[in-house]
Amino acid sequence: MKTMGLIGGMSWESTLIYYRLLNEKVKARLGGLHSAKLILNSVDFAEIERLQHQGDWAATAEILTEAAQSLEAAGADFLVICTNTMHKVAPQVQQAVSLPLLHIADATATVLLRDGIERVGLLGTRFTMEHPFYRERLEAQGIKVCVPSEAQRDIIHSVIYEELCQGVVNERSKSAYLEIVDSLASEGAQAVILGCTEVGMLIQNGDTNVPLYDTTEIHADQAVEWALV
Ligand code: GLU
Repeated sequence: MKTMGLIGGMSWESTLIYYRLLNEKVKARLGGLHSAKLILNSVDFAEIERLQHQGDWAATAEILTEAAQSLEAAGADFLVICTNTMHKVAPQVQQAVSLPLLHIADATATVLLRDGIERVGLLGTRFTMEHPFYRERLEAQGIKVCVPSEAQRDIIHSVIYEELCQGVVNERSKSAYLEIVDSLASEGAQAVILGCTEVGMLIQNGDTNVPLYDTTEIHADQAVEWALV
């Protein structure tokens, strides 16, 4: 089994989910007492969040690059950045190490294409919904991406930072998210990407008429594939 190198803590609420899923999936594949081989470098999210909102992506890239280099030095075989948003700096991180990086949008595109989804809604932070780094990666694979309206993007973004990343799961926010999923579906989305690693804490398949693609689950699945080849 290969050793995964996780860059986590963004937020730690979702890193916990990754840790559980990775171990459950390795156990499901290998049975018995098997568990995931991994090294975690967990950053301080307050610092990352401040830099994101100041637009200082270069400084965030430095923090993540240092984390990636320490994982490489510690013996990781590949890198997993446990957040969608911070894939904005994935190219800089990838350049600084010789380890392969399992890109969360590529993992998601693979599953969407497998399921014949050509038009998809995207929920995530403002950065993920509005900046090109994520959408363009999906669109390059022929997937059409629709995002919620500006007012809806505001709600989604603030629920992520003010609630989910702080461990708060709120029924009113859940209803607001479900309404947004419905409106994306009525605009023609065949499915909706939970493009933020905490959103699965709030809404899951079964809550909606359209299928939801949870990037945390997909990323963890693919990481286990990479670890077990
Ligand atoms: N975990 C979230 C994501 O997947 C948001 C936190 C962050 O800004 O990294 O985008």
